[in-house]
Amino acid sequence: MNLRQEILLIEDEKNICNFISTTLRAQNYKVSFANNAASGLSLAASGCPDLILLDLGLPDMDGIDVIHNIREWSNIPIIVISARAQEREKVEALDAGADDYITKPFGTPELMARIRTALRRCALNNSSAASGQGRYEAKGLVIDYDRHIVTVDGNIVHFTQIEYKILTFLSYNAGKVITYDTLITHVWGPYADSNNRILRVNMANIRRKLERNTADPQYIFTEIGIGYRMIDNENL
Ligand code: CA
Repeated sequence: MNLRQEILLIEDEKNICNFISTTLRAQNYKVSFANNAASGLSLAASGCPDLILLDLGLPDMDGIDVIHNIREWSNIPIIVISARAQEREKVEALDAGADDYITKPFGTPELMARIRTALRRCALNNSSAASGQGRYEAKGLVIDYDRHIVTVDGNIVHFTQIEYKILTFLSYNAGKVITYDTLITHVWGPYADSNNRILRVNMANIRRKLERNTADPQYIFTEIGIGYRMIDNENL
């Protein structure tokens, strides 16, 4: 296939811009870039990129507003580039509709893995086959959505209804960070108490049933202060 995927990079720091565009071009992606929000938004609308890498600290507009703006008309995957120690900002970005974030400084393998995951999830969502997706599979864990059966290494694991709801929501969004608020709203509804104590209790139970070693989870990872991320579905 010689159709190269295009990535739009919106970032005002020249060094990071150079590093990322060199990396992406070496991986055979087409790269366009903008060093402020206004030209980024105009390129996003005119260029039809396959994915956007967005720095939140731009000179002319808050990056969160850039996400809101794009989400008014497009579901294009957005990966936020964030500086360290900005948990609040990452949560806001995810809740505004960003697909993922990567924290500076980051290495090439991490960046490429995030991009591949976001592009793959987007392709899956766009394909009509997505609705018939009946199975999640990773490292010996299988979730059969049609039969509501979860097995680890072939052994059936029993979950409460709430636990199953949490687990399946994370697995539908495998690879992506789901914020505590998003998860709470999905499981308990929009009027639920956003105190995440009950979520933590349920997560502890899920892990005890699922993980071989709860101190070193291999299926569901905690992104401290932000939310949870489930390991990629190998079945796709
Ligand atoms: Ca910046």
